[in-house]
Amino acid sequence: MSVKQKEKKPLHLAKMNIKKGDTVLIITGKDKGKEGTVSRALPQVNKVIVEGLNIAKKHVRPQGQTRQGGIIEKAMPLHVSNVMLKCTECNEPTRVGHERRPMGADQKLRPVRICKHCGKAIEDRMRSS
Ligand SMILES: [Zn+2]
Repeated sequence: MSVKQKEKKPLHLAKMNIKKGDTVLIITGKDKGKEGTVSRALPQVNKVIVEGLNIAKKHVRPQGQTRQGGIIEKAMPLHVSNVMLKCTECNEPTRVGHERRPMGADQKLRPVRICKHCGKAIEDRMRSS
């Protein structure tokens, strides 16, 4: 008897508009109105970790010799819908579009994120240039 193999669900890698190194504005929650730098992007869950924001305090017990007990502060992931990307050109929080534009030294057409505000390409700080 052959059992039909369950098809593996493709890992949904939704393209996020927000990447590591971006400056974002938090638009909901307790850190609403604050800005920070994305220290980690989690595309699988559509979340980002913003440096120093959305901090959860966690009480931990001492564990062996490696960890001291006490309170640790940890930046919790925020859903991308709760943050807005700040444009590197006009410095406004904006929605993001996608286009192919000539970029870099060779002016090759590359997919870039476009600020809906000023229409300029948003810089990808983590991309080596
Ligand atoms: Zn802009």
